[in-house]
Amino acid sequence: MSHDVVIIGTGAGGATVAKELSKNGEKVLLLEKGDYFGPGKAAQNIKIKKANIQSEKSSSDQQTPDHHQKESSEDINFHQHDLELMYVEGVGGTTTVSMANACYACSTCYSHSTTTQFQGHDLELFEEFLDSSKEIGVNPLPHNYRGPTTNKMVEAADKLGYFMEAMPKFIDFSKCEPCGNCLYHCKNGAKWDSSHFLKNLDEEGSQIITNFEVKNILHDNNQVTGVEGLFKGEKQVIKAKKVILAAGALNTPLILRNSGITEGVGKGLFCDLFITVGAYLKGSKLNKEIPMSVKCEFGAYFISPHYSGMLPGLIQEKYEKQGKSLEDISPEDIVGLMVKIADESNGYLDEEGNVHKEITDNDLKLLSEGIEKSREIFIEMGADLDSIVCTPVRGAHPGGTAAMGTVVDNSMQTSIKGLYIADASVIPRAPGRPPILTIVAMAKKLVKILNNEDSEEGGCCQNATDCI
Ligand SMILES: Cc1cc2nc3c(=O)[nH]c(=O)nc-3n(C[C@H](O)[C@H](O)[C@H](O)COP(=O)(O)OP(=O)(O)OC[C@H]3O[C@@H](n4cnc5c(N)ncnc54)[C@H](O)[C@@H]3O)c2cc1C
Ligand code: SF4
Repeated sequence: MSHDVVIIGTGAGGATVAKELSKNGEKVLLLEKGDYFGPGKAAQNIKIKKANIQSEKSSSDQQTPDHHQKESSEDINFHQHDLELMYVEGVGGTTTVSMANACYACSTCYSHSTTTQFQGHDLELFEEFLDSSKEIGVNPLPHNYRGPTTNKMVEAADKLGYFMEAMPKFIDFSKCEPCGNCLYHCKNGAKWDSSHFLKNLDEEGSQIITNFEVKNILHDNNQVTGVEGLFKGEKQVIKAKKVILAAGALNTPLILRNSGITEGVGKGLFCDLFITVGAYLKGSKLNKEIPMSVKCEFGAYFISPHYSGMLPGLIQEKYEKQGKSLEDISPEDIVGLMVKIADESNGYLDEEGNVHKEITDNDLKLLSEGIEKSREIFIEMGADLDSIVCTPVRGAHPGGTAAMGTVVDNSMQTSIKGLYIADASVIPRAPGRPPILTIVAMAKKLVKILNNEDSEEGGCCQNATDCI
């Protein structure tokens, strides 16, 4: 049996394509490497790819421009820690652990936004952004959902001349009781993730097969013919007329290479590098507030309130080094700000799937600026200056590994006819912003492109009587 459309992956891109095609009456087959997650289980399944990073600056501290930046770069501590890239395999993909942050990717905040990047390839996503935003329920976080410490941060930032605005969230606030548990488990089902797009697909004749790991794409005469993979340890072949690859930026390149597409694949990896800066502030309880409720935009980076479980240990360690009398540092006594930057697209995913990445001087400069602003805000809030620490550098938005203009054209088609890509790997450069809304919009656009192609191939003009 041959399927009209096989979709690989059920994350932001794959689930959207499946929902849109099913809505149009197409019966699709989704192949998902992972399984369904039980309630609250996705976060326990976060996978981490480590990369040994060297910064351009690490070899020479003399290059550090001023005292503050020197302090900041030491705090980042990237020399001692590997870069960690996070992603999830299972139904709903990495959307299952998101903080529900949405970004419209207009160029007002950042001139290299995804909208601008795709416009550079003559691909306009304006309508799709609006549709996607409605569909996943994006709203700016209402004022009364901000916690008291977030409000204190907003006030402190304001005094320093930094404007913090509400973060757009894909949360149904009529169901949300601000528990701050967004990453781990939204008991109320208030937070959207892409598994919501998969509900009722079977009623429309579509099907999901879980625990199916696609290994490569089959093609003949440069035309896609199906996919090959492992299901319960057995090799399986599934025939298809069209294949949509949406396995995420760390898996898609491996499937492409296995299928004979190599040019530019795995190169240009970015991940929106981030760190969380933390400080001791007794009784602040930021860990109980909705994470990243507000944000402050600075072009290629933004900062946003964020508690990281690493912070208490790092602060304790810093106090010990200072010979300060120890007390048990509770998560409730920590304030944190995430600094997230649009890093350079200089990473590489090798044949084994290992990540290689260097932090450039420019990446470091952006991180250092964000750290400095966070310090200022903490001091203004009355946090202990001696306690300020930074987590190691991490990345949660890997992308760019099958970029538009290099691996896919502006209809998201690869050099194999009928093989399309609809995930973060086609975004050419780091957005420095939450990418889910962009990926959903992009996937919606792909479905419109596919529909147009179908109508051009077998459309009404070939059978004029149907049009009358
Ligand atoms: C902790 C965390 C918080 C985040 N918060 C936000 C946020 O608030 N807002 C935001 O916009 N973004 C956020 N992100 C990033 C966002 O979740 C990802 O950028 C986005 O989900 C990527 O979408 P995708 O379709 O490219 O891949 P994914 O969503 O990762 O989907 C890929 C899918 O493919 C499947 N797959 C992989 N390999 C195969 C194979 N060989 N065969 C079959 N199936 C396969 C996977 O199991 C998965 O289901 C966050 C990420 C993390 C880690
Ligand atoms: S704050 Fe709690 S209820 Fe609201 S979206 Fe997050 S996890 Fe769900």
